[in-house]
Amino acid sequence: KQSELKGFLGKETLTADGESVELFCNIGTPKDAKKALECDGEGIGLFRSEFLFMDSGHLPTEEEQFNAYKEAAVTMDGKPVIIRTLDIGGDKDIPYLGMKKEENPFLGYRAVRYCLGNKEAYMLQLRAIVRASAFGKIKIMLPLVTCVEELRAVKEMISDIKKDFDTNGIDYDKDIEVGCMIETPAASLIADILAKEADFFSIGTNDLTQYTMSVDRGNADVAYLYSTFQPSVLRSIKHIIECGRNAGIPVGMCGEAAADPLMIPLLISFGLTEFSVNPVLVLTARCIISKWSKKEADELADKIMSLTTEAEIVAALKEASKE
Ligand code: PEP
Ligand code: MG
Repeated sequence: KQSELKGFLGKETLTADGESVELFCNIGTPKDAKKALECDGEGIGLFRSEFLFMDSGHLPTEEEQFNAYKEAAVTMDGKPVIIRTLDIGGDKDIPYLGMKKEENPFLGYRAVRYCLGNKEAYMLQLRAIVRASAFGKIKIMLPLVTCVEELRAVKEMISDIKKDFDTNGIDYDKDIEVGCMIETPAASLIADILAKEADFFSIGTNDLTQYTMSVDRGNADVAYLYSTFQPSVLRSIKHIIECGRNAGIPVGMCGEAAADPLMIPLLISFGLTEFSVNPVLVLTARCIISKWSKKEADELADKIMSLTTEAEIVAALKEASKE
């Protein structure tokens, strides 16, 4: 098995019928970008920037953040680096920010909501990312979007930053893309609306599953319901990819499901164009992708989408598995 995987090192990521897809990595620190390269990742599909904030005893300055984003961009040497802006709240607390205790932290003041409520600090992060875009192919991604106003508000801040940089002769990538994570039922349901104003989507199945199933990601008592193979979650994923394709924007996935051997054929059928996985899973994912043609994946997906329970779906996927 390991020797079979080695054969995929340095290869393009292709389906059995030769369709090319992108295979990126999820990372938490700029140092992890080296790991992503060593593991043969073709880019960074999710840089969880909150780790910079959690590993520091103070709000990282613009300069500190700039250096971190620049390091990731330089390491990846022109390959895409999708930086997700601060995703805190929920289960991630940062003591020095003095966030309030909430009754329902996962439904509360978190991620893009928190950032837009603290624009001065958010401005530092966006400035640092836009500055770093002069050193590679950086893209900006917003977590936990639920309505188009959030995307518009961030794009407006970025456009102000660009004007300021133009005035002051600061270099940046004028075509820097701004995309949304689709990880809430709200964003999924308005994916057609968001797709008109976002440059790309990335599906966050960890949260999408939690919110679609109304199941706390960390609660063992309800863990039996937490599955990306629930018909509701699969319909949502299919719908998001369709909306992205209809609008002509790329759709990736950076939740854990992107590396799940049982999920991969469905994603190929739905038309996902970018898979972002833990670096150690790059070769496994490339190997599984290589085993499925669009036609075969479509036949399987048609069958799967007609089933009514998670148990039937998982059983059918295991039976069809090529592992
Ligand atoms: C997700 O929700 O699927 C995701 C990738 O983000 P995180 O796991 O960091 O919440
Ligand atoms: Mg998430």
